[in-house]
Amino acid sequence: MRSVPSLLSMIGDPDPVGAAVMPWDYIRMRREAAGLSIAQAARPFWHHGEHQADVERNFRRIETVGIRMKRLWSMTRSFPLSLTVYRQLCDTPADRHPRLCRACGWDEWTPQLDVEGFDCTWAQADPRICSLCAQTGRRVFPPRLPNPHPRQTPDRGHQIAA
Ligand SMILES: [Zn+2]
Repeated sequence: MRSVPSLLSMIGDPDPVGAAVMPWDYIRMRREAAGLSIAQAARPFWHHGEHQADVERNFRRIETVGIRMKRLWSMTRSFPLSLTVYRQLCDTPADRHPRLCRACGWDEWTPQLDVEGFDCTWAQADPRICSLCAQTGRRVFPPRLPNPHPRQTPDRGHQIAA
């Protein structure tokens, strides 16, 4: 009975990748797509040297697997990131998540031009990614899923999470 489509595949628009984009990955995808390191992304947000380490720590934190910020600051000074999308990724079930480019995190409400200067759209050849990523050959971002809690062993032996 392999030819019968599963119930899941008949509901709506099947997710072309099958895994939700996590909030921490969304931030990293958008930052990396802008070509910025953490230090570069953080730079517009501090003015005195003594704040640099704190600001960079906050930028690392928001990309940490498992972190969902209740309030996220606007990133517009360093890279385009939709706070609305971020909220949806944090607070709504995966089937309500907006469709995002799996390579750069672009959503279709965010203006973005492709290399030819046209409005970005979904790639014809690979619906997981946007037309800009198809043109530039940006690879699909490997999702970083939260580690399951390592099982406690009776002798409290150490387990290093991969
Ligand atoms: Zn893209």
